[in-house]
Amino acid sequence: MFSLLSLLSLLVGSSSSSDGTAILIKGGTVVTADSMRRDTDVLIVGGKIANVGRGLAAAGTTVVDATDKLVMPGGIDPHTHLSMPFMGQETCDDFYSGHVAALAGGTTFHIDFALPVEHDLLKGFETWRYQKAEPNAVMDYAFHMAVTSWSDTVSEDMKTLVERHGINSFKYFLAYKGALMVSDAEFLEGLVRCKELGALPQVHAENGDGVARGQDIVFNEMGITEPRGHALSRPEVLEAEATARAIRLAEFVGTPLYVVHIMGETAAEEVAKARFRGSRIIGETVTSAIALNDTVLWNANFTEAAKYVMSPPIRSAASGAAVKAALAGGALQLLGTDHAVFNSTQKRAGLHDFRLIPNGVNGIEERMHVAWEELVNAGLVSPMDYVRITSTEAAKLFNVYPQKGTIAVGSDADVIVLDPTVEHTISAGTHHSRMDTNVYEGRRVRGKVVTTISRGRLVWHEGKLTAEVTRGSGRYVPLAPFGSAYGGSALTTSKKEAKVGAKAKAAAKTAIERLLDDQQRKGKLHSEL
Ligand SMILES: [Zn+2]
Repeated sequence: MFSLLSLLSLLVGSSSSSDGTAILIKGGTVVTADSMRRDTDVLIVGGKIANVGRGLAAAGTTVVDATDKLVMPGGIDPHTHLSMPFMGQETCDDFYSGHVAALAGGTTFHIDFALPVEHDLLKGFETWRYQKAEPNAVMDYAFHMAVTSWSDTVSEDMKTLVERHGINSFKYFLAYKGALMVSDAEFLEGLVRCKELGALPQVHAENGDGVARGQDIVFNEMGITEPRGHALSRPEVLEAEATARAIRLAEFVGTPLYVVHIMGETAAEEVAKARFRGSRIIGETVTSAIALNDTVLWNANFTEAAKYVMSPPIRSAASGAAVKAALAGGALQLLGTDHAVFNSTQKRAGLHDFRLIPNGVNGIEERMHVAWEELVNAGLVSPMDYVRITSTEAAKLFNVYPQKGTIAVGSDADVIVLDPTVEHTISAGTHHSRMDTNVYEGRRVRGKVVTTISRGRLVWHEGKLTAEVTRGSGRYVPLAPFGSAYGGSALTTSKKEAKVGAKAKAAAKTAIERLLDDQQRKGKLHSEL
């Protein structure tokens, strides 16, 4: 099945001139989530991987020498906010600057969060896709849709988005009271609807009422106005509570659940416990959680401290180390960034009130490098696990594997070459984001992405962006429902998909259905006695 699809897509791909010339990546170590092949070549034709093997011929192709380097699938960032209006401002990276930054850092695909416009999901999707992304995109992208209210129209629009527009995940906020937050009742409706549609529900897990109370105590009663008030007012216990509650509600409904940006050890523990009892809970953490700690929020210099303000907040070093260990050990499944950047002028909105500091940190350009340093160089994970955590797992969960997230014949040619010997320093002075600060400023990393290929186009090579980086060259990638959390796969035809979905639904019994089964068994036992 796959080979036929590959052949078709190769034919389709080669007819498009925007998919680059033929490229041969020569003599590298090709790493996927489950193999490392030394001295192996990768041939790219028409935006797709045409061959992987030894001694491939190079006639008429651009040759990239990968001797002593690692050739890996481009990074997939499952959590970004480009051109996002938030707290009265808009993130300063749009789909152009964000994509350029991503490509320079080895990320070739991302899933951004579209928000409803005037509570209208379809309007939100169209705004994000056609106004924000399409004219500016340089690499491929897809969307999650946030659901911030509940009505019959919202429910109907979710169906339209899944069936006609390639959305297969919906995010609910249990925080941001009075703005994005949904009630437990609305969250439950959303979980049920996701299950019907085969869409993956996602949750921002912090107790919004608790945060509001915490802010009242810290700002009004204690008189703390500085950035450290942000960390003090939304402690880890509120993240752990909401994580546990969201997981239990997903278990009640019988649906998988994806918890975004796990920052604290106690929230990670809730995910681990749920997985241990067999629930299909997916835990995403972010670069800032595994590489930074909360002491930075105590810096007396407002600009320095405010750049680290994000929600949930960056936790203690001990908590962060536990989250990193959970990611390395497999209790958490993947790494995003929550890239949502506001420059220092924008952050100054909260100079006298930490509650008004726009939330968000950078990461779309740094994630692949920081993860290499923190996980691989630190000896915590193999290069194969690195690929799984930064690319393959996201591709499977959001049902775009093996089109993305691996190096295989027929896959999109989203490929990076990493030189493990090159040392470099991360800095706002050299990064590609529009941010004037960088939360990883001055950090040394051994290992650098020296080449990035985006759908067959050589876009980043030898420290420079190439002429292939042009606005509008990135493509929207529609995502089908019933991804790996439902047991499905992107390779199934729509008929098969429906079957897989039905099977997944049958397997995913609600707590009530399980109780009924149990009672029936007991009743039968009783009558037999
Ligand atoms: Zn986010």
